[in-house]
Amino acid sequence: MRKPFICGNWKMNTDRKSAVALAQATAKVAQEVKGVEVGAAPPACYLEAVLAAARGTALVVAGQNMHNEAGGAFTGEIAGPMLKDLGCLYVILGHSERRHIFGETDEFISKKVHAAFKFGLKPILCVGEKLEERQATQTEAVVRRHVTAGFAGLSKEQAAQVVVAYEPVWAIGTGLTATPQQAQAVHAFIRKLLTSLYDAALAAEVRIQYGGSVKADNNFDLMSQPDIDGALVGGASLKADGFAKIITEGARAKKV
Ligand code: PEP
Repeated sequence: MRKPFICGNWKMNTDRKSAVALAQATAKVAQEVKGVEVGAAPPACYLEAVLAAARGTALVVAGQNMHNEAGGAFTGEIAGPMLKDLGCLYVILGHSERRHIFGETDEFISKKVHAAFKFGLKPILCVGEKLEERQATQTEAVVRRHVTAGFAGLSKEQAAQVVVAYEPVWAIGTGLTATPQQAQAVHAFIRKLLTSLYDAALAAEVRIQYGGSVKADNNFDLMSQPDIDGALVGGASLKADGFAKIITEGARAKKV
């Protein structure tokens, strides 16, 4: 049984006060909605404050990114052991903003995935096509490349711990959401791919979130799809009430 997982990605937003208030409100919902794992990925500078607000609650905390090296001369970067030391459980890797604004490659992201496991963190591996790739019917080819590279060299035990976030780039922050059918088709494709990379039992274990303009009024339909196990939520995770509704709608969709 895959436990649904809904995680907010706050990106480069909030300030200390609003981050703490949002973490407290989200932690309250995480406590109340037992059948859904609830996470928050705040900016690195507020991780400690958010982790303090989450302590003793069910809210799990993720880094938004990390470097693959354990430490050293990498100005501006954060290392896996630092995230682990603070108390993070997850780290988002390969987000489309990292891939397309900061030029991260599949090879670099793969190194980070391995580093995450080495340092005791679970990766949330983001994959997804750009609009022109979808229009050129390249969606499956792009997603296959991202998933294959992201899982390269992982043992079955590690692979089972990866959370995949399918995030079509054209739906991120645009207000355009993939229809539940479009999203389900890609999620089913990812599961089939994992079956060929590992086996059906492993593929059935891996949680696949959808991300791209998820809101309170569309998450029920998205998470009602059989292969959509949760959501990675950007903009709509910044408002405590709206994010709480996304979580309760997800729980209703999965009947937990
Ligand atoms: C994201 O950046 O992971 C995301 C899904 O953003 P939004 O929900 O704002 O589209």
